[in-house]
Amino acid sequence: MRPVPLHYVWDYTDVDRAFWAEHLEDWVPQRIIDAHTHITHPGHRLEPQTEEMRRQYWVSQVNEPIEAAAAERCSAIVFPDREVKYVAMGSPSLEFDIEASNEYSRTECLRRGWWSLAICNPRWTAEQVASELAKPGVIGVKPYYTLLGQDRFTRDRYLEANIFDFLPHHILEVLDERRAWVTLHVPKADRLPHPDNIRQIREIRKRYPKVVLVIAHLGRCYTEPHAREGLPPLADDPGLFFDNSAVFNPAVHRIALKHIGPRRILYGTDNPVFYMRGRRQWRARTYINRTNYDFYFNKEREPPDIEAAYTLYIYEALRAIKEVCQELGLKKEDVEAIFGGNAERLIRSVLAVKSVTND
Ligand SMILES: [Zn+2]
Repeated sequence: MRPVPLHYVWDYTDVDRAFWAEHLEDWVPQRIIDAHTHITHPGHRLEPQTEEMRRQYWVSQVNEPIEAAAAERCSAIVFPDREVKYVAMGSPSLEFDIEASNEYSRTECLRRGWWSLAICNPRWTAEQVASELAKPGVIGVKPYYTLLGQDRFTRDRYLEANIFDFLPHHILEVLDERRAWVTLHVPKADRLPHPDNIRQIREIRKRYPKVVLVIAHLGRCYTEPHAREGLPPLADDPGLFFDNSAVFNPAVHRIALKHIGPRRILYGTDNPVFYMRGRRQWRARTYINRTNYDFYFNKEREPPDIEAAYTLYIYEALRAIKEVCQELGLKKEDVEAIFGGNAERLIRSVLAVKSVTND
């Protein structure tokens, strides 16, 4: 069959169809909640993205905004015969009009029966946070350290920030009172294992126990050493959740499922980025993205026959999750919990309080 255009420079091809049929069709649950995905209207970009900006970081080059309708269309292609819902957010960047982008994400989610996380400006007052959370369709927030300030030359200017710098206490108080959802992308070059992150996550759990706290990307633990150091210290808190978006490494999924367990991990894609084709490889604490498109970062290409067999990154992630689930002997109910049940339970807990506070 002819390739179907997916998003940006990527298509859905016979390689992907065959991969789905061979590895995923019989295993991926019927109902999926993608608990970490981005939808953005390109018109909400405040300034054009220059070539220089695109070259700063590989994500900047592959992250082309996807509108809600296109995201819905892509989900239907990559998850054939599945019911897919989103917990969606805009682009967490000051390059976008955050208010307009939040409103776009909220209204598009609402009309599709999805749920929205508002990109949370750390400068918001408590009242602004409360009013955002009261809007229909919004279940919580997505804070991010890049929202502390704009820097045209690096997105890492605030990488070493503390969590409370970009998720300040006056905002956490409101989130706690509303029992709202927070998808937290942890800061620091050392990722989740950094002692400040472990300490501050524990502090949030202690001081704001009613916040539905979801640590994004398994704490940005993409390599085995990070996962081994970062995940076990947080394993004993039954009220702390993680999404596994952007994690392709089977070793990381294995550590997460062993220590955190299937009832506290939420499936996520971090799309649209991972409609990218290729595979990831790991070297100690670093990784390399292999892909077949001529991106500036794609200098070390693999041989053509290997590139020809590349499938979508999200399919590679699904296969990694599947292999680990099978290896650990997870039950069907556990797999269904990861792919939607856990998110659904948390969403319901937020909505139960929300309907009361809105009356
Ligand atoms: Zn993300």
